[in-house]
Amino acid sequence: MTILQRIKNKVRARSIHVAYVDVGSCNGCDIEVLACLAPRYDIEQYGIFVHNNPREADVLLVIGAYTPGWEEKLAMVWEKIPDPKAAVAIGNCPISGCVFNRRETFIDPPVRKHIPIAAEVPGCPPRPTEILQAILSVRDSVFANWEAEHP
Ligand code: SF4
Repeated sequence: MTILQRIKNKVRARSIHVAYVDVGSCNGCDIEVLACLAPRYDIEQYGIFVHNNPREADVLLVIGAYTPGWEEKLAMVWEKIPDPKAAVAIGNCPISGCVFNRRETFIDPPVRKHIPIAAEVPGCPPRPTEILQAILSVRDSVFANWEAEHP
């Protein structure tokens, strides 16, 4: 690997920009994501920034139970994110539908059927520390060695 590639890998892994999309939640997980931004968890100290603009994002956080109405919109958001990119499913809703997974509802979990998911964070809702850990894990698995794998 060249020095330039090493520098690119290092910079990429230390500057993760996050967007999030809520495909139908009770807002419990949204609050935990917002808590990551507050001084107690201070997500920016790890080089993770939330802008919520898919064109500038590296990581997409998906929250909520997926409903068919989201099919085109979620695919559109995912396509707007430039490579390298990763999606993280936050909470039980995008993994299993959680409390919304009943016969009379129209949800279609898991979200990984619809876009590639690099990490899942179970919990109803998961703790901010678990959300943070998941973002850091995709940072290491997707971004830290991107240049060597995609010369
Ligand atoms: S996982 Fe639980 S807290 Fe999160 S959106 Fe679903 S029902 Fe709400």
